[in-house]
Amino acid sequence: MKKKFMAIFLALVLCLSMVACNKEDTTSSEEVTTEEGADETIKVDSDDIAQVYPVSVAGFGGDMEVKVTLAKDKIEDIEVQKDYETQGVGKLALELVRERILDGQSVNVDEVSGATVSSKALKKAVKTALEDANMDVEMFSNEYKVETDYEKELEADVIVIGGGGAGLAAAVVASDNDSSVIVIEKNGFLGGNTVLCGGIYNAPDPEFQEPQGIEDSPELFYTQTLEGGDNVGNPELVKVLTENAYDGLQWLKSLGMVFEETIIQGAGSLHPRTHQSVDPLGTGFINAYENNLKNKDSVQILLETTAEELIEEDGKIVGVKGKYKDGSDVVFKANKGVIIATGGFAKNTEMVLEYNTSGKWPNLDENTVSTNIDSIRGDGIRMAKEIGADLVDMEQMQFLYLGIPKLGHISGLVDLGAENTIFINSQGNRFVREDGRRDLISSAIFEQENGQMYLMHSNNNVDMATETSLEGVPLTELIESHKYGWQSGETIEEFAENIGVPAENLEKTIEEYNNSIDSQEDQFGRELLTKKMLEGPYFAVPRVPSLHHTMGGIRIDTETRVLDMDGNPIKGLYAAGEVTGGIHGANRLGGNAVVDTVVFGRIAGESASLEK
Ligand code: ADP
Repeated sequence: MKKKFMAIFLALVLCLSMVACNKEDTTSSEEVTTEEGADETIKVDSDDIAQVYPVSVAGFGGDMEVKVTLAKDKIEDIEVQKDYETQGVGKLALELVRERILDGQSVNVDEVSGATVSSKALKKAVKTALEDANMDVEMFSNEYKVETDYEKELEADVIVIGGGGAGLAAAVVASDNDSSVIVIEKNGFLGGNTVLCGGIYNAPDPEFQEPQGIEDSPELFYTQTLEGGDNVGNPELVKVLTENAYDGLQWLKSLGMVFEETIIQGAGSLHPRTHQSVDPLGTGFINAYENNLKNKDSVQILLETTAEELIEEDGKIVGVKGKYKDGSDVVFKANKGVIIATGGFAKNTEMVLEYNTSGKWPNLDENTVSTNIDSIRGDGIRMAKEIGADLVDMEQMQFLYLGIPKLGHISGLVDLGAENTIFINSQGNRFVREDGRRDLISSAIFEQENGQMYLMHSNNNVDMATETSLEGVPLTELIESHKYGWQSGETIEEFAENIGVPAENLEKTIEEYNNSIDSQEDQFGRELLTKKMLEGPYFAVPRVPSLHHTMGGIRIDTETRVLDMDGNPIKGLYAAGEVTGGIHGANRLGGNAVVDTVVFGRIAGESASLEK
């Protein structure tokens, strides 16, 4: 966005600060012109004047507004004024890339691994500003790399592979047990998929449930988790999960994490025992761990470093081979044990297709998308398998029906209440109950003509004028730009035309849906029959099933020891979190993923640090 205007900036401010610098005022009568394209002229040091260029670029979650301050031969400052990047991921990348650009005086700096879209967006913003200022972009394009001392060999008592939820929980406990710890993390930030989760945690909790009149027990939690996973999970592991969830919650609180006092029933969680983090997404968990670990001299965290292979000696796992960002090799020696906490394999299409044998997802192909971050590629499962570990439930995969077509991630969604929406296929018809199980909805969408649906709202239920996306982008902005495919229409007819479905079908669909609210009977078995679709504007966004969680993985015992094909523990090797299998069975309950990372991450930290 290039604002064209000329303004005169009289050097009064300049003059005042020059006096403060004890310099002779030689410029007080000088006129300084704000350049075309810039919206402000400022003084950046005693002798220099800089222009502030406003730029708008597309980021990951929406348009980003950046102000770039440019002096004669220098990028003085970069200020991101408005962005919709993801908390803990893109937002962090913006800070890191900003620093790199300013330090290197170059737009040719390394992007942050795992947050390349946000990184690229900021680099583009600065480049655009340089162009707007008619400055020599070449001069600011020398390759700049952050100086790093890449040590070839490192050693610690416990090596943790993966700095997501489970890995960090393990690192906290192992270091509390006086073990030195190295965390190896592929991305340029900590948190993995856990930082992107909904921040929900299931645990029976009499202190908060009883005042709300909610009855619960670890036994009920156990039964629901096992049965909710179609009885496929390992009862022993489910028992450990459900019996230790409450203690895990108290432990998180002791690390400084704060939860809302009201207990809710998280989507797909089967009972009101869900604790909602006060901080956005999963940042509350990751911040609590980071705050604990950053003060410990015995803990070293290596970002942008990838574990590639386990080192085995005399039947024991004694270390890990890996690579730094520049491709150079590194060896991590583990005095006590190695913990694999690399998450699932949803972003590894080859693995997904190889293990998709359950018959539940016959439509998967190389275009299958995932809600996960890019680094979730089953590395830990591969590494464990290579040294003889057993895998379990690998065919069990969970889809969420809220992915962006072709991309899979879930940005750009507004109200998620099932009571406020209906799902429309390419014929303008409903085809499934909108308040049903995740797997049934996803299967039904796969069966539709184009494998996608429109998630539709009407203005009487969701106010188009005031609603924002989960990232905070105003819905009106999304609809105007058609970002993520958002469409609207004042009437059903206009709306139907805009989403390309037969208007007469859609009119009939809405009439039938509204009638089912009167009769409290729905042809698809929907139970949430509370809100009619009565008035426009109508609006909708296209969505597809997106691979969300892989329930299968490394077989472990209740102490998180990795088991071989004969069911015996592999000495020195532990695993926790989504990389493991046998806990969630055929269907993970909403709000149980983080419990898994906390409960089994803690056990892994304990087990590995006790290994002699
Ligand atoms: P969980 O919920 O099980 O903790 P997460 O997705 O939160 O899983 O975290 C897994 C982390 O492991 C991610 O941050 C991911 O980038 C990291 N990771 C995956 N593969 C590797 C690897 N080969 N080396 C280092 N880190 C890895």
